[in-house]
Formats: sequence, structure tokens, C-alpha cells
Amino acid sequence: VRIGVVLPQDDRVCVHLQIGDDAYELCDSDTMSAPRGLRGCAVRFEIVGAGISVRDEHGEIASAREWRLSPASAGVESARPCLWVHGVPAGRGFHWERDISIRQPGLIEVTRRNNKLFVVAVVPVEDYMLGVITSEMGAACPPEFLKAQCVVARSWGIAHTEHKHDDLDFDYCNDDCCQRFHGFAEVSPEARHAVESTAGQVLLAEGGVVVDANYSKSCGGVVEDPQLVFGMAKPGLAVLADAPADSPLQRMIPVDESRLSEFLEGDWLSRCDAYCSPRVVPNETLTRFLGPVDTGEGFFRWRVTYTREELEDVLRTKLFQRLCIPAEEGLNELCEINVLRRGWSGRALEIELVYFDAQRRQRRLALEDQYWIRHALHKSFLYSSAFRVDTRYLPDGRVEGITLVGAGWGHGVGLCQIGGLGMALSGFTYDAILRHYFPLADLKRVYG
Ligand SMILES: [Zn+2]
Ligand SMILES: [Zn+2]
Repeated sequence: VRIGVVLPQDDRVCVHLQIGDDAYELCDSDTMSAPRGLRGCAVRFEIVGAGISVRDEHGEIASAREWRLSPASAGVESARPCLWVHGVPAGRGFHWERDISIRQPGLIEVTRRNNKLFVVAVVPVEDYMLGVITSEMGAACPPEFLKAQCVVARSWGIAHTEHKHDDLDFDYCNDDCCQRFHGFAEVSPEARHAVESTAGQVLLAEGGVVVDANYSKSCGGVVEDPQLVFGMAKPGLAVLADAPADSPLQRMIPVDESRLSEFLEGDWLSRCDAYCSPRVVPNETLTRFLGPVDTGEGFFRWRVTYTREELEDVLRTKLFQRLCIPAEEGLNELCEINVLRRGWSGRALEIELVYFDAQRRQRRLALEDQYWIRHALHKSFLYSSAFRVDTRYLPDGRVEGITLVGAGWGHGVGLCQIGGLGMALSGFTYDAILRHYFPLADLKRVYG
């Protein structure tokens, strides 16, 4: 599997690596001159002139157009050679975006595209799974959850329907855009066991096709229809209540306007049995099980409060500028936000902004797609689009502020990761977890 680690879009001209006890061979892929052995040193790749210069603590080693760093030995499965790559972006474009250091197994290719560095790691597929399951959620998660996550991630990877990076010759990026792969730093014996004991197992839909198994952090109570989120049917995925068969949640689907407030704030929450609710996974427990890049709590139910001016600023930058809306049609004063269409889980699929432009003409702007709605309504990224819009008015009828009262984190399709964790904590096995989230699919071993 080819994994994009540092992408041209990250705008890097310099990348720092740290090679520890594992020996590596550095090879210039233009001239194929004899490889140079490296061990226990810091290495820096930097674009200089037409080439990429490599230097260690003692100065420049050489310059070439393309480099490969390969482990001197393949190692054994329980101890793959790794090196550290520093300053790798994580959560590109999301609210948790930051640079991290990753302990990267496999062969590393360093090339350039559009004058920016481009780093790809090449790893065996089961090593990829091991990195994914310990990056998506913490490796401390219960073993049955790790196994379920592994089967789902493997199915998604094998189905590979989205082809997000075909233009750049790698299979998946290392980030939330595809699946998180933040290397091997968090790998534990339990995670290794989860990968080995489910080796080659995937979810199959009717007709034997591998399920394009999506997942997100918290569905908020109802698992969403892929057609409404990705614009395509995905065999094997279903709309369902993330709770036992006798839960009050079953009667709230679809979460439409008439049921929304009950779903978000009803009395039933005090005895809520949704697998992803804090009654099943208490916030203190959740913090312990989340992956190293995720922080915070309260993903099941949340609120975001804005003054009108704050929200207008966000909308100008995140929406009006992005859509290149001409200044004369620009946002001068926000009047209301209406949700025009929702999915089964209450996720807004289309919203409408009503506002005055600078000439105080009233205008409307519609916005579709849960992703862009989440992008537009938060300075980084809104947890989910399953929200109610509560508007506060001034005595003169103008908007004073807006609060979004919401549920869940992510698109809500397929496996609910916190719900799967809740099921594992409640004693369900990984195949029962998979049957719950993918009732239309079968668990099968297709290789290994
Ligand atoms: Zn990607
Ligand atoms: Zn859930």
C-alpha cells in the first residue's frame, strides 16, 4: 500500500526525519549509485535548486531529484524497522488540525511535485491496518472494538471506491480524508492481536462485493444513509438506531423537524441507551480511549453559541469568500438560517441563509452537503450537521446571536466508533458489533 505522508498541498520545502536504532539505506533513485547506510542520525530533506538535498548533522550528503530510504532488513512482524518523520500534518482542514511526529514503518520515497516535497511510505497491507486501528482510536481500546475497527478499515481500504488521490500515484493519504495512519508509535500487543486474529476478514454485501465500509466518531444516535452523505448507494450499509432493539431511539427515525428537539434534548436522554451516549461511554472513559490527536468530550450532544457578528465573520471567510460571491451580493447582516432538508439521523443536508447585502436588499444563499455545511458554520469545522438552529433576537427584531444545538461527530455513516467502543465495553464481541452496524453484510475471510 502506498501512503501519502507529506503531500504537495502541505506546502513543505523541508522535512526532518530521525533514524534510530534501525538501519536504513539511502538511495538516489536517479543514478542508482551505491546505497549509503544510515543509523542513529537526524536527516533533513530540502528542496534546493532543481534537486532535493539530503543532510545529516555533519552537512550535506548529496543532492538528487528523488530519494528512497529503505530499511536495511524487513524485520519481523512484531518489530518492523521504523523511523520518525517530524512535522506531518494531521486533521488537514478539520478542527483538530496540527503537526505531529509519526513513527513510520516501510520504505520511504521523497520526491517533489510543483516544487513542494512529497513523501510516500510503502507498507504491507496488514501493517497498514495496524497503523490505522491505533491512529483512528487509541490502542488502549478493548480488543473486541479494535477487531471490529480493523475489519471495517480493511473493508473500506479494499473496496477503495473513492480514489481520492489517483492524480498523485498513492493509494491513501495518512489522514482523516482517507483513514488515519499516524504510524506505529501507538502499536500495542492487543492491537497486533486484533490485526492478526482478523487477518483477511472483510464485510461482504449481497453478491459478494466488499462493503465500502465508512465509519465516523459518533453517529449521535442514528446511523445515516450513505446516499445522502456521499451521493452514492453503498451495498451493505444501512440506516439504524445505534441502540438496543427496544430503545426509545427506534421511534425517532427519521429524525425530522417534528422529532428533532426530542432527539436532541428530550427527557429520554437521562436514561439513554444509545451505544455512543455518555451513559454507555462516560466522558472520562472516552478521553482514555480516543486516539492521540483527538481531544475534548461531549460529542454525543453539543452546542456552539455565536453572536451574530461572530457567525457573520465565520460565514464571510468560510463561505462567501470560498464561493467568490461578488461584493455587492456579500453578507452585511444575517437574518436567519433555515434547514431545508435533513437525513434520517437529523443531519442537515441543505441549509439556506437569509441575509441583507450592503444595500439592505434581502438575499438567500442555499448550501448543500453536510461536509460544506460543517465547513461553513465553524471557524475550523463543526462536529456534525445534525443540529437545530436556535436564534436569539434583539427587541428590534434583528438577530442577536445563534446557537447550534447538535448531536454526533462526523458524517454518521457505517460504524459509529464511539458506539462500537460502547458495545465492546458492554461485553459484545467484534462479530456482534459488526452485525449491529452492518446488518446487511456478512463477515468473511477472503485471504490470509
Ligand atoms: Zn486521503
Ligand atoms: Zn452512534
